[in-house]
This record gives sequence, structure tokens and C-alpha cells, in this order.
Amino acid sequence: MSADPRLVVLRDRLCRVEDRLRAACARACRQRGDVTLVAVTKTVEPDVAALLIELGVRDLGENRPQELWRKAAVLPEARWHFIGHLQRNKIERTLPLVHLVHSIDSLRLLTALDEACRDRARPEFLLEVNASGEAAKGGFAPADVPALASALASLRHLHVAGLMTMAALEDDPAKCRPTFTLLRKLRDQLQCELGDRHALAHLSMGMTNDFEVAVEEGATLVRLGTALFEEVA
Ligand SMILES: *Cc1c(COP(=O)(O)O)cnc(C)c1O
Repeated sequence: MSADPRLVVLRDRLCRVEDRLRAACARACRQRGDVTLVAVTKTVEPDVAALLIELGVRDLGENRPQELWRKAAVLPEARWHFIGHLQRNKIERTLPLVHLVHSIDSLRLLTALDEACRDRARPEFLLEVNASGEAAKGGFAPADVPALASALASLRHLHVAGLMTMAALEDDPAKCRPTFTLLRKLRDQLQCELGDRHALAHLSMGMTNDFEVAVEEGATLVRLGTALFEEVA
């Protein structure tokens, strides 16, 4: 183990997060193993991210392609998640580095990614839905999700594994519950339309402010930055 004093801080943060995750799983009669913790490293340098790997968290997330490229180059042992807006000209360089892209936010990107998946080992993909309906947020409108079934059915290479959303920032995280419930319902509805063509096993939802509510509503991936890395540099 490294003697870095930040390791002690991070171990403590991780313990608290794990306690809260386990308690939320228990309330929903779910297993802790049903939920993957993705540590969002966008505010820290790779040396701090490496400490989290040392503590056993291998799933790391970034929301900017260039930052993902830079950090994945020095931490290839992590399982990288891309959680931000992916410009089409960044696809080629990003796909080989990632395990899961959480954030397909348009039909244009979906089509471009399908083509890019033609000749390579493919990551998995989630569709980002603007389930909170805020004007400033990207992603598919909830009303447009059921109709995505036909677009998904015509994909040739890409596998969609579920949906992702970001709730609004609320003082009371309970207010985020309808956003998460809606995402789960949209997933169930889309799965029903799709039959067994894609298995929409994943719901990526829940951040520092609201992850316990998200887990209670069925999150399989939570994306935490602040809870782990606040004021650690
Ligand atoms: C930054 C970010 C997170 C982590 O947010 P925190 O509130 O710091 O936990 C999660 N998801 C996305 C898409 C992000 O950009």
C-alpha cells in the first residue's frame, strides 16, 4: 500500500459511501453486488485516481474525451466509463479506451457509433435520457424514448445495454425520485418494444446528492465524484 496521506482520506470516504450503498440496497431488497460504483475522476489528477484503484475501485468515469484519453493512458488498468457528451470526431480515439459509454444523446451519435463499432472489440452503450426535463440538459426527451425501438432494432454492430440520466440538483434528494422512477419505466417500456434484441439491464443514475434514492429505484450504476474526491487534490 502507498504511504500517501490522501489514501487515508479516500479510504474513509469510500467506507462511508459503501455503508450508504449497502443500506440503500437493503432498503430495496437488493444486493450490494447489483450496483456498480463508478468513481468520477474529473476533478482529480491520475495520481489520486490511482489511489482509488489501490482501494479496489476499478470503475472510473470521465465526462470529457481529452481528459479520458490523458488519464486512461496512465491508468490502463482501470475500467473506464465515458459519461459526457461525445463529439463524433472524438469517437475513434475514445472507443478503444472504454468499457461503457453512458451518454448516447442523439440519433446522429447513435448511428455514427454503430458504424464505428463495425470492426473492433465493442464497449457497451447506454442512451442518455433527459428524465428531469430541464432545458439545459442533453439527452433524449422521455416522450421520444419509446420510438427509439425502431432505431435500435436497425443497429448492426452496437449493443445498447440500458439508460442513463442525471436528476436535477435538489436540496431534498427525495424530490429526485420521480426522475429515477421515470427512467426505470422508460427502460421497461423500451425493453418491451425491443423483445430480446437488446438486453437493457442497466440504469445509470445517482450522483453524490441523490445516489441512495437512485439505488432504491433500481440503479445498477451510480456515478460519484464529490462524495469521494471533494477537497482531495
Ligand atoms: C460530474 C458528474 C458526476 C458526479 O457528480 P457528483 O455530484 O460530483 O457525484 C456524475 N455524472 C456525470 C454525468 C457527471 O458529469
